[in-house]
Amino acid sequence: MGDTSGRYLPRQQNRTLDLHRGLRRAASSVIVQLQTGKIALASYLGTFGAAPTTECPCGLGRQDADHILTSCPTYADMRNEVLWNEAREPDYRRILSQGPLVKKAAQFMLRTRLLGQFRTLPPSYRVSASGS
Ligand SMILES: [Zn+2]
Repeated sequence: MGDTSGRYLPRQQNRTLDLHRGLRRAASSVIVQLQTGKIALASYLGTFGAAPTTECPCGLGRQDADHILTSCPTYADMRNEVLWNEAREPDYRRILSQGPLVKKAAQFMLRTRLLGQFRTLPPSYRVSASGS
């Protein structure tokens, strides 16, 4: 193989497809983590000793998905930009029950870099190829 005129393009296309598959997988696994509450935040990790405390470093309470998504002051600017740029929704359960918002919630969580397993994703990460 490699001796035909089409040898460059297919290789490039395969790499691009692999990348997009990986990105979508990250987003969907964050959404599952948000919905189950089993997410790498202090409120969960601290319950079995994987974090020194269940409290958020901001000092305002437990560091759970509700706190990070709706009230933590550390991420206020990012929240306004990523999550609430169209309609402000302070209800954590409602965020997770609406398709467009839950995708933004996943993007926001990835952007905070709080979830260690996803820290290698680029800041330009989008949860879907259409950029929504
Ligand atoms: Zn906080």
